[in-house]
Amino acid sequence: MAIKERVPMREQAPEKRIKNFDSVPLGYSIEEAVSEAKRCIQCKNPLCEIGCPVRMKIRDIIHYIAMEDFKSAFLLAKSDNAVPAITGRVCPQEEQCERKCILGKQSKAINIGKLFAFVADWARENNVVEDVKVIENGKKVAIVGAGPAGITCAVDLRKLGYKVSLFEALHMAGGVLQYGIPAFRLPRDVVDYELSFLEKNGVDVELNSIVGQNIDFEDLRNDYDAIYLATGAGAPKFLGCAGEKLKGVYSANEFLIRVNLMKAYKFPKWDTPIICGDKVGVIGCGNVALDSARCAKRLGAKEVYILYRRTKQHAPARIEEILHAEEEGIIFKEMVAPCYMTGTDDGWVNGIQLIKTEFKGVDKSGRKRPVNLENSEHIFELDTVINALGTTPNRLFLSKVPELETYDWGGIKINDNYMTNMDGVFAGGDALTGGSTVIEAMGNGRDAAKVIDEYIKK
Ligand SMILES: Cc1cc2nc3c(=O)[nH]c(=O)nc-3n(C[C@H](O)[C@H](O)[C@H](O)COP(=O)(O)OP(=O)(O)OC[C@H]3O[C@@H](n4cnc5c(N)ncnc54)[C@H](O)[C@@H]3O)c2cc1C
Repeated sequence: MAIKERVPMREQAPEKRIKNFDSVPLGYSIEEAVSEAKRCIQCKNPLCEIGCPVRMKIRDIIHYIAMEDFKSAFLLAKSDNAVPAITGRVCPQEEQCERKCILGKQSKAINIGKLFAFVADWARENNVVEDVKVIENGKKVAIVGAGPAGITCAVDLRKLGYKVSLFEALHMAGGVLQYGIPAFRLPRDVVDYELSFLEKNGVDVELNSIVGQNIDFEDLRNDYDAIYLATGAGAPKFLGCAGEKLKGVYSANEFLIRVNLMKAYKFPKWDTPIICGDKVGVIGCGNVALDSARCAKRLGAKEVYILYRRTKQHAPARIEEILHAEEEGIIFKEMVAPCYMTGTDDGWVNGIQLIKTEFKGVDKSGRKRPVNLENSEHIFELDTVINALGTTPNRLFLSKVPELETYDWGGIKINDNYMTNMDGVFAGGDALTGGSTVIEAMGNGRDAAKVIDEYIKK
């Protein structure tokens, strides 16, 4: 039997969407979702599920969608994933579930992410919610950080009967979902709705609460039966080169926080200014770099360049984001590395010295290694530079708990059970890795909830 083609996702046209921050994908209609779900051949051993860090029952969820039983599909999705509308939109499915889909060998894999976003949106429109019955067990857990890892751990522990307090430094829960990923990829009404269930299900969310600053860590140790550290990796890495402190040079963190969390794209309705020039260069080619480039375009930049020392085929960004960026006119300047930035007499950046690279051998992770090509330095004129070289865990919290063991680069050390060197203190998410994916952080949160439950019961 011939395999049907994947049902395409309708999207805002590039020339229209570069002028707004609304969602790029427009979502499946019921007919489209059912038609896409019917492509699934319902494998006896669904390989797609092996690739999912929170172990969603993908095959059965898709079966329910194909049967038009969206309620059962949603409730099954929600039983393993606190935020299916979010992961459906931002997971790198092509590296995980969809990569293992057997249909991918002959045609395109099932569009698992978009189907899950569809079913979660359908539940929201139809007021279908998970009925969480909590039998209180009298024990208390404190969670530090309300990003994907902390949220997932909080929800799972709450379902097991724990009183959970979730401490978040910012004025909104969500972590990167709120301050990093732009609304055109992850609409904020979706995030707000998904996160509203934390409090509805009895998680005590304490915003503006910086553990180590206005909340004392020792107090948490005394007051709670266990602590889960999910503080993420919010500190930017810098090049350490000349010119990095010129005006017009941003870290991607600052740029994206201004745009997304502090709504600079709604200036002057929102009181957050942002200066974005006509010719913008973004260093790096991960999701953070592409988000920065696409935001700059929407803020009115005429030319936006991704400056990358490999080619985009080797980039860590999601394929969908690269395609969308190209459609939006982002220019990929490949095989170049930054050396330093040049500036005007009054301290504004006006260029970047780049050096060409070539591939020689492979690095420790098996990726092709770019090396600098001698005598290929050249100045590239720009008026804004955004540095998206990666992140490390924030040192503020770590400096307040010096007895907590970390790696030199700041990652928190844990044993096989997610426990740190401090009894009853567990950790997960980007705080361990320095940066991964939403669903990996959520997987960590789920696993940690299980071991915290076992620890407290013992
Ligand atoms: C711009 C950007 C785009 C991305 N795009 C994608 C994508 O498309 N797909 C994908 O899968 N992944 C993506 N990622 C990666 C993904 O978002 C992260 O891996 C994930 O959010 C990590 O979750 P976390 O809970 O560990 O940390 P975070 O999301 O960073 O959350 C940590 C939270 O802890 C809080 N916190 C820190 N210190 C304290 C303290 N002392 N007291 C109280 N609270 C504290 C922080 O304010 C923050 O809210 C992206 C990341 C960025 C930055």
